[in-house]
Amino acid sequence: MNMKINENFLKLSENFLFSLIAKKVKAFKEKNTDKEVISLGIGDVSLPLSKVVIDALVSASYEMGVKETFRGYPPEFGYDFIKDSIRKYYKKNNVDLDLDEVFVCDGAKSDLGNMVEILGDNRIVIPDPVYPVYVDSNMMAGRNILLLEGNEDNGFLPMPDGLSLEESVIYLCSPNNPTGAVYTRYQLEKWVEYAIKSRSLIIFDSAYEAFIRGDYPHSIFEIEGAKSCCVEISSFSKLAGFTGLRCSYSIVPKEILGGVFNKIWGRRQATKFNGVAWPVQKAAEAALTEAGLKACHENIDYYLENARILSNVLKKHNIWHTGGFNSPYLWVKCPKNMGSWEFFDYLLENAYIVTTPGVGFGESGEGYVRLTSFSTKENTIEAARRLDIILENLR
Ligand SMILES: *Cc1c(COP(=O)(O)O)cnc(C)c1O
Repeated sequence: MNMKINENFLKLSENFLFSLIAKKVKAFKEKNTDKEVISLGIGDVSLPLSKVVIDALVSASYEMGVKETFRGYPPEFGYDFIKDSIRKYYKKNNVDLDLDEVFVCDGAKSDLGNMVEILGDNRIVIPDPVYPVYVDSNMMAGRNILLLEGNEDNGFLPMPDGLSLEESVIYLCSPNNPTGAVYTRYQLEKWVEYAIKSRSLIIFDSAYEAFIRGDYPHSIFEIEGAKSCCVEISSFSKLAGFTGLRCSYSIVPKEILGGVFNKIWGRRQATKFNGVAWPVQKAAEAALTEAGLKACHENIDYYLENARILSNVLKKHNIWHTGGFNSPYLWVKCPKNMGSWEFFDYLLENAYIVTTPGVGFGESGEGYVRLTSFSTKENTIEAARRLDIILENLR
């Protein structure tokens, strides 16, 4: 066959991180059947959906089986009721949105990956380490990627200082996955200022905004001027535990490129996407009601309490880390200059704890591991107890 393929796909690095972790854990468990392994590597919510959400999901599902209330294709960008709920949710942070700036979709991952399609060949700026979707989707499109190094000095929150004034597409994620670090208002003001000066676009991933308890922006649109140069991609996945249900949204302001960007994103979605299921949109609407949000925040508080327990034990042993507050993640510097995989193996073999090696999220992640708070409270407390002993031994 002579068919040409998109050769950019062949340049992608093998997605071996989680398969290698699974392989190592399996091998360890087989050899140590008496050891109780605890995973602090879970990258998914673990608490069930709230009753408010399930009630809406169930009753909307029954409606699909009744002639009078059956619904076919939903609007490509979401029903007005859910867009209006999202608008009100943003209003709490004093952000004003028009309904036609809100695009409801089946996942932030889809939107993050698909938005590359409506962008031309700009310089792509991405902090490192990072959620792999930004890098991989731009690699698939053959784009030029400039990685900004996250490190101890900048607290894994790279800033535009020293970045040339070139038109770029910039990806920011705050609170960050994998580092749990959160940009301050001042830092985001600097980024928006840079974007305006350099005529760049910021793609802001706010998937974890609901974990913010301190005084940090929940949305990039809380920053003055952001509506002229930013889009925001967010999701019900981490807010309301929708990772298995699938509902997200993107905010594409009409100020960008005189409305053209909003228009072509709509064109792209309407051509290649047919909308989110009626019961799922009803469930998402329920999540944004007062009772729904209360239930969401009870679950998030549970994860945040786990994160605090882990952060406290690290602090006790002076282990440098980011996250643990305003985020389900902790980004931990490996003791004794160990590499990411070395410390991963050490914790698995000596504390029976599974982590995620930081180097799997980019080169700047070498020397770090990511811990998550998505385990049960009991397991998190037990893991913290084991960490306490291990870190004492490593002094
Ligand atoms: C989990 C996550 C998302 C949400 O993805 P969905 O496709 O909506 O489930 C987006 N961005 C980051 C960084 C995430 O970790």
